[in-house]
Amino acid sequence: MKEVYFMETKAFQAESKKLLDMMIHSIYTHKEIFLRELISNASDAIDKLYFRSLTDDSVGLNKEDFFIRLELNKTQRTITITDNGIGMTEEELEKNLGTIANSGSLQFKTENKLGDEQQIIGQFGVGFYSAFMVAKRVTVYSRAFGTEQAHLWQSEGVEGYTITETGDFSDLTKHGTKIVLELMDDADEENYSEFLEDYRIQYLVKRYSDYIRFPIQMEVSHRKLKEGSEDEYDLEVTLETLNSQVPLWRKNKNEISDEEYQNFYQEKFNDYLSPMSWKHVHNEGTVTYDALLYIPAKAPFNYYTREYEKGLQLYSNGVLIMEKCGDLLPDYYSFVKGLVDSEDLSLNISREMLQHDRQLKLIAKSIEKTIHSELTRMLKNDRDKYEKFFDAFGMQIKYGVCSDYGMHKDDLSDLLLFYSSHEDKLVTLNEYVERMPEDQKEIYYASGSSLAQIKALPQTEAVLAKGYEILYFTVPVDEFAVKNMISFKDKEFKSVTASDLDLNSEEEKKALEEKNQENKTLFETMQKALEGKVQRVALSSRLKTYPVCLTSEGDLTLEMEKTLNAMPTDSKVQARLVLELNPEHPVFAKLSALDNSETIEKYAKLLYNQALLMENMPIENPAEFSSLICELM
Ligand code: ADP
Ligand code: MG
Repeated sequence: MKEVYFMETKAFQAESKKLLDMMIHSIYTHKEIFLRELISNASDAIDKLYFRSLTDDSVGLNKEDFFIRLELNKTQRTITITDNGIGMTEEELEKNLGTIANSGSLQFKTENKLGDEQQIIGQFGVGFYSAFMVAKRVTVYSRAFGTEQAHLWQSEGVEGYTITETGDFSDLTKHGTKIVLELMDDADEENYSEFLEDYRIQYLVKRYSDYIRFPIQMEVSHRKLKEGSEDEYDLEVTLETLNSQVPLWRKNKNEISDEEYQNFYQEKFNDYLSPMSWKHVHNEGTVTYDALLYIPAKAPFNYYTREYEKGLQLYSNGVLIMEKCGDLLPDYYSFVKGLVDSEDLSLNISREMLQHDRQLKLIAKSIEKTIHSELTRMLKNDRDKYEKFFDAFGMQIKYGVCSDYGMHKDDLSDLLLFYSSHEDKLVTLNEYVERMPEDQKEIYYASGSSLAQIKALPQTEAVLAKGYEILYFTVPVDEFAVKNMISFKDKEFKSVTASDLDLNSEEEKKALEEKNQENKTLFETMQKALEGKVQRVALSSRLKTYPVCLTSEGDLTLEMEKTLNAMPTDSKVQARLVLELNPEHPVFAKLSALDNSETIEKYAKLLYNQALLMENMPIENPAEFSSLICELM
């Protein structure tokens, strides 16, 4: 090691420090996963160099040349992990190991989420720092491939780290990385010495890292009977490869346990939760590929933001060529994690070429079908699970119905769930349609900000009284989705607030029309008082207990108006509203007995504002409204 005159200890960034502290104080009950994390980093580093060697002859290395070596030293209590991968320069050591936020893809931004520690670490991926769960000091020697100087990074945890120059760091390789963990001392309930036992490490590699495509080697001691003796043994040490090196996705499905699938997912995609569901595909036909597709248990914290990047890992014949291939997943299935490995893709393919690659398009189509049928299967066979899935990712499916001019609606409509008046449960559109009584022609829905508010809407009364089911739309995208679909199984969607809700018999309609005519002048006076707010005032048969409600003519409902106008655009839209009155209500009797037009106008404003309030809409002039009430009282 070169002499260092002045060695400055650099502090971890504030956020990193906090996380590191949480990590060390062991949020993870499974300390053992440090090994899979470090091996996986070593494998990534080898992958990078191996990939380069395939396209650049000057690298001069073949697949067989690569290795990961584990060494255990009981006297010094160290575990050493060496790889001959791409290595790190001084800058890279600083950047990659000095900032937790650099690990994985997460930007540390949601301070207030700090409460849920497990969640945060999960989001970060445990990564390199998991070493501190078992080690009191971590030393990383590294030399980047193609450079002359090796460096040494050292840290004892939260206080910071140092980086210095160093000479050759390994007998095994000139380039790559060697990580030395000095294990913590055993304490009452914590046993770290177990990680110095061959059998323990052998077990952990088999369990978590078996599929790593490069050999993970270790010198293992075996007892051998001494020659000529019956009870005396010699220790024989042999270098062994601990992992089978067959990628999990290439193995036979019936050789893989659920636990293996789950471990693989957690390690690869940095999730502290087991996936909700997975699908292992071996596809042969127009395109040949293997794929592992996972549905996470929960939406990543940044899922519904621009930051989230969709995509599957893409391998060509076992070699990773792209970390996140977005073209493999449609946006509405962007929550799917996983990988695809195909022999049909060329290794040298660039990102731009991939976009136009016919094989890739075929694979994407086939994967989309697989996801759809997997979701359909879950919906049919495991409703509880599906509802959990929909709770996490249903929004994305609904957006999918609205996207690309509604061209995916036919594929996605079967996957939708909505709350409904039927036992207050989530229902599918198929279930709704199957339950429709014969005389019901349309699929009814009501929108609002919460189930409670929707259920209190006056407009739902008549529909429910008819024995018809109503879908309850609690998020704005619901209504936009059905507007895009227009109909489902030839039944059109209809808002219960539509002014032309056709629930009456011909006779009833006639009677209502006559009554409307009788009160023509009254309604005209009222409409004048509400100029610019409502198109007309009319009697309605849809109300049972409430005196008034607002309905809308045409496509735009009041809910949609609210949503659209909340968007940051200049142009505002306005629904064409009708103020409907309940002819059976005492308020209407009072109203029709009035002849002073000034009083009628005041009543009109009162009733209009009342209707707005019931829709959970703001009233325009609260001061005027309350003085009108006082006047009346
Ligand atoms: P992640 O693997 O999710 O990126 P880690 O915390 O595990 O996060 O590792 C941080 C970074 O440090 C890696 O992305 C990589 O750039 C670098 N790194 C870690 N271990 C090695 C290694 N053995 N060889 C080369 N680079 C490494
Ligand atoms: Mg890692």
